[in-house]
Amino acid sequence: MPIRQLPDILVNQIAAGEVVERPASVVKELVENALDAGALRVDIDLEEGGVRLIRIRDDGGGIPPEELPLAVQRHATSKIGSLDDLEAVATLGFRGEALPSIASVSRFSLISRREDETHGSALEVEGGRVGDVTPRSHPRGTTVEVRDLFYNVPARRKFLRAERTELGHIEEWLRALALVRPDVELRISHNGKASRRYKGDEDLFSGARLVETVGREFADNALRIDHSAAGLRLHGWIAKPAYSRASADQQYLYVNGRAIRDRSVAHAVKQAFADVMYHGRQPAYVLFLELDPTRVDVNVHPAKHEVRFRDARLIHDFVYRTLHEALADTRAGQTNHAPA
Ligand code: ADP
Ligand code: MG
Repeated sequence: MPIRQLPDILVNQIAAGEVVERPASVVKELVENALDAGALRVDIDLEEGGVRLIRIRDDGGGIPPEELPLAVQRHATSKIGSLDDLEAVATLGFRGEALPSIASVSRFSLISRREDETHGSALEVEGGRVGDVTPRSHPRGTTVEVRDLFYNVPARRKFLRAERTELGHIEEWLRALALVRPDVELRISHNGKASRRYKGDEDLFSGARLVETVGREFADNALRIDHSAAGLRLHGWIAKPAYSRASADQQYLYVNGRAIRDRSVAHAVKQAFADVMYHGRQPAYVLFLELDPTRVDVNVHPAKHEVRFRDARLIHDFVYRTLHEALADTRAGQTNHAPA
C-alpha cells in the first residue's frame, strides 16, 4: 500500500484507542470538562454500566454555538494556546482529544448554552460524522450524551465487562474525584435509579467527604497531614498503621488536584510505613501533593493517569520524610522496633 494520509474519522478512532478504554474513561473525560468549565453541580446518568448511555450535565460556563463544531475537532481546545501554557497547565484537560475521540466511537450529542444566549444549541455526531448545529432548549451549562459506546468498533466492544464491573469502575473514579472536589455536587443515577449523591459545598478539610468516600473507619483512624517545604506541599490523611489493608485499594494520590498513579511517590509512602506495618500489608491514604505546575509534566499519558516530576528524587524524599515524621508517635508506642 502507498503511504497515505488517514481520514479524520479514522485518526480519531485510533486516538480513541488510547483515550477511551471503557465507559469509566468517558465519564472521566466528560466530568473533567465540566469541572474545567467551572461547574459546581454535575449530573451523571448511566444506563447499562454506561455502555448504553452516559449523560453528563453540568452548570458550567457552556460553549458558544459557533464553537460547537470546533469542540469535536481534534486538537481543538480553549485551554492552552502555546508551549508556555502547556508547561504550566492548570486545567484537567488540554489535549483537545477527548470529545472527537469519544464522538468517533459512539452516538454522541453535545448541547450547550452560555449565560448570554437566549437558547441552547445542539450538535450531533454519529460514529465521527459531524452534523449541523441546531437550536435546542437547555439551561446554562452543557450536556453531553454518549450512546452505544463502541457500537461501530466490535473489537473494542468485546472487551467490555459485565454491567456491574463497568459501573464499579465509574463509581471508583467518581469517588476519587469526589475526594478532591468536595465543593462540587455530584449526582449519579444508574438505569433510572439515583445511586449516589455527593452533596457538594463542603470544605476539603472538614473530613465529611472523607467519610462519604473512603469510609468512617478510615476517617476514625486517619492522621491529618499538612507539611510544606522547598515549594512543595503535602497534605491529606494517612491511616494509622493499625488500619492497614490487604490490598492497595485505599491509596489516593493527587498532584495539583489531578488523581494520578506514581510509583516513586507510592514507594516513598510505603517506605515511611515500612517499620510500623506488617510485611505484605498496604497503607491507606488520601494525599494531595501541590507544587508549581512548571515542575511537573502532565503531558505524559493520553489518559493523564501519570505525570513526570522534574525533580522526582526531591519529591520522593519529601514525601518519605513528611510521612515518616507523621508516624513518629505510632513508632514511639511500639517497643519491638528499634529506631532506625
Ligand atoms: P480539552 O478538554 O483537552 O480541551 P476536549 O475534547 O475534552 O479537549 O474538549 C474540547 C473543548 O470543548 C474544550 O477545550 C472546551 O472548550 C469545550 N468543552 C468541552 N466540554 C465542555 C463543557 N462541559 N463545558 C464547557 N466547555 C466544554
Ligand atoms: Mg477534556
